[in-house]
Amino acid sequence: MKLRAFHKLSYGLYLVASVYEGKKAGYIANTVFQVTSKPPLIAISCHKDNRSTEIIRKSGIFSVSVLKKELDVKIIGDFGFMSGDEIDKFNQREVITALTGAPIVLNEAVAWFDCKVHQEIDLGSHWLVIGEVQDSDLLSEDDPLTYAWYREKYKMFSPKNSPTYLEKDKLDEERKLDEANRPQPEEEQKPEGLEPHVCLICGFVYDPEQGDPTVGIPPGTPFEDLPDDYRCPICNASKEYFRKL
Ligand code: FE
Repeated sequence: MKLRAFHKLSYGLYLVASVYEGKKAGYIANTVFQVTSKPPLIAISCHKDNRSTEIIRKSGIFSVSVLKKELDVKIIGDFGFMSGDEIDKFNQREVITALTGAPIVLNEAVAWFDCKVHQEIDLGSHWLVIGEVQDSDLLSEDDPLTYAWYREKYKMFSPKNSPTYLEKDKLDEERKLDEANRPQPEEEQKPEGLEPHVCLICGFVYDPEQGDPTVGIPPGTPFEDLPDDYRCPICNASKEYFRKL
């Protein structure tokens, strides 16, 4: 089986949210897909260990915000890599209440759907939750974010509980095997000090050639010269969690 074949499946990126007894929960998902049009049904795949899954199943409602292509990635860091026990993900965000009562996060979204759970299918590690759309809105004509574009831009991996998670060691092994069978181009040597560094928590790559314009780090800044309080723009991890690529 070729693991990287799975990377050729296309997805978007979405923020799924719900609430039960006043407790809001939300996470970032790529597996959100419309399964029928009459009635309009949307399916989401939810890991059994995630807090949001329990809240969706207990409340029977969820919302889906479709994220835009050019977005502030902090929303992915907060909803995708942090637990609701660590931070209040909804604080200081623009949130409205849907017809069903589900919270809808409007920040960085181009559209949203409000769904009532119609059916749940047990898939072992995940529940496939199918929701019937009760309401929806289009917020802007901006392009939606695709998972492939996001992965390419931020060199990200799927978090472990994602339905599309692939083990990084196995992927690397597969890549090495393929490369060994291919004629090798001249290896490009990065000048000393300009080696990219990867965040071990989320996979974000700091590339010194590009710097980090989101926090005013100019291009050409070596990782070692970043301020001590520099944090991963995706998952907020501190510098000690980065390793040279
Ligand atoms: Fe990170």
